[in-house]
This record gives sequence, C-alpha cells and structure tokens, in this order.
Amino acid sequence: MPTTVAVLGSTGSIGTQALEVIRADPERYEVVALGAWSSVEQLAAQARELHPRVVALGADDRAAELAAMVPAGTEVVAGDDALASVANSAEVVLNAVVGFAGLGITLAALSGGRRLALANKESLIAGGPVVQRVRGTPGAEIIPVDSEHCALHQCLRAGNRHEVAKLVLTASGGPFRGRSPAELASVSVDDALAHPTWRMGPKITVDSSTLMNKGLEVIEAHELFGVGYDRIEVVVHPQSVVHSMVEFTDGATLAQLSLPDMRLPIAYALAWPERARRPFGALDWATLRRLDFEAPDHAAFPCLRLAVEAGRAGGSAPAWLNAANEVAVAAFLDRLIPWTAVAEVLNEALSEHDGSELECAEAVVDVDRRSRRSTEKIVKRRAA
Ligand code: MG
Repeated sequence: MPTTVAVLGSTGSIGTQALEVIRADPERYEVVALGAWSSVEQLAAQARELHPRVVALGADDRAAELAAMVPAGTEVVAGDDALASVANSAEVVLNAVVGFAGLGITLAALSGGRRLALANKESLIAGGPVVQRVRGTPGAEIIPVDSEHCALHQCLRAGNRHEVAKLVLTASGGPFRGRSPAELASVSVDDALAHPTWRMGPKITVDSSTLMNKGLEVIEAHELFGVGYDRIEVVVHPQSVVHSMVEFTDGATLAQLSLPDMRLPIAYALAWPERARRPFGALDWATLRRLDFEAPDHAAFPCLRLAVEAGRAGGSAPAWLNAANEVAVAAFLDRLIPWTAVAEVLNEALSEHDGSELECAEAVVDVDRRSRRSTEKIVKRRAA
C-alpha cells in the first residue's frame, strides 16, 4: 500500500521539490491532498497530474476559478483555514507553507496524530510551547525537513539522548560571508537573493544572508531535540556538504554529508522510518577535496545572536522575533529598507517586546499580530 501524503504549500520551492521526490517513487506515495495560498493555475495543474481527493486554497475569492480547472472527483476547499482543515487527510503531512501562516497546519497535523514532515520552521519557533503540547498526541511525530535538522535527526540515531554532548549546526555563511559591516551597507536585494549553494525561496534566502535563518534554526533544534542553548553551536561551513553534527559525551562527533539538495531531506522525511530507495545525486570524493569550517562573524551578522537571545528568553520572545523578522525581510525585499537595517529594525522591535507565556494558539496569533504592527511602525519611520 502506498503512503498517503498531503503536500501543503505545494506550489512553493519545497512543495515543488517534494512532488519531484514523489514522482521519482510513484509506487511508494499517493498524494491525497494539495494546498497553496493563491497560485491557482499551478495548483490546478498539479491536481490534474496527481488526482488528489482534495485541494485547499487559501485565497477564498479564487475558489470557483480553481474548481473549474481541477479534475472531477477532486474536492476544492478554500479560505484562511483551508490548508489546516486538510492536514488530517493523509498519513504524512508536509507543511511547506512559508512563514507564520503554517502554524495552523502544524497544530492540526499533530493534534490529529499524524507524521508531520516540517519544512515550516516558523510554526515551531513561534508556537514552540503550544506545539510541544500537541506533540504528545498518540501517533504524532515531527520529522524535520530542514537540511541541518534532518542531519541531526540522522546523527542522533547513533546514540542515546543522555549521551549527547552538543549539537553543531553548520551554516553556509550565505552570499555575504567574509564581508565587513562597511561592505554590507550597500548590498542589494539581488545580491542577497544569490545564494552560493542552496536553491530556496526568497524569504529564507534573505534569512540566510543575514544569518537569521541560522538563529531561527538554533531555536528549531532546541524545540525539536530538547537540547539546551548552551549545548548548541553554530559553525560556518561554506561548501554546504556537512549538514550538521552531533558530538557525544565520549568526544566522538558524527556528521551527515550529502549534496546541498533539499530533495534529500524531503525524501528522508517522507520515507521515514525507512530510507528513500533512490538518491538525488551523491558526493564525488575525487573532486570534493576540502571541507572548511570557521566561527560565525557576530559583528557583521548580528541577527544570529538576536535570535539565540530570543530563544533563551523563551515564552513569546521567539514568536515576537519571528513576526518582526517577516516584516523586516518583506520591507527589504520591497526595497523600503537597506539590508543592514533588517538587524536594526529587529533590535528595535525586540526592545518593544513585553514577555508573556504562550498558553494557546490564539495567544501565539496575538503576539504575532502585535509584533507585526509594532515592527511595521518601525519600518515606516525608517522608510520615511
Ligand atoms: Mg536549513
């Protein structure tokens, strides 16, 4: 019997690569649900190819248009909660929605006792305390679709939890590695979107250029694996071949190596607890030659420290930071603020944060909304 899969965020970078993974092993998977926010034509084309039972569309106003384009027998659901409403339709739910909007899918999949292949790190980072509560639902399980956390997940299979000394997350360093703060003052949107090793969507590519992505990933690792912030280290590794490492109590370090290709962690999460039967490329040891490692430059990339501090503060701080970052990155992509202002905006936004506990999903949404409002004001002041 094939594994049933729901691909939510199916028209984005991770979603389309997930469909490549599924096409490569068609007997193994059956796509029963697809979901996207607004890319109606692309979503309809995917539905015509894969014949899911249901397609979910975030944009309510285009539901009729979509319904006219999907095959007979495919149901269309639409609205703000549409994607989350189909998260229980499959054994494996891939949450590949971008940003905080993915929270509802994460909560719905886990409280429904599903295996969640989680590419939407923001839901775990912002909603950490709330997500942890539903994670204990029988059958619920998170398999990370983030190359570093997929690597950690693999390395952790080599020992017991009490034998873990340290998690070491690798960072490519992004397109601006090695530049001084002065040189960074004039970088453009196009410069920030030119990632040296990974093919990803625009939001995460900008996050990689500021190292915010790595900071968010430290919080993600803490939430996923329950390891304290003092025992999570970040190291810059420009080749993006070592995807992360685990150091055990006896001093042995295990690393996971593969090509920088998101289809590997996607395939790992979909096939878990087995492995994908076919690789997407393999390392060529004859040409690989060298693997470099260096400490991150905190002066040039202050976002890394801002994120780790928010993680340590806990409660609503990661949610506040995550929302502020989404606003700041959008403003940079809209060319309203320069690249260096992203960290400055976040610094200012965090100073306006009044810490609180997160008891429920509504509280997370409220913190997210307040942070956005406050950060938008900061951006407006700067852009004026
Ligand atoms: Mg990553």
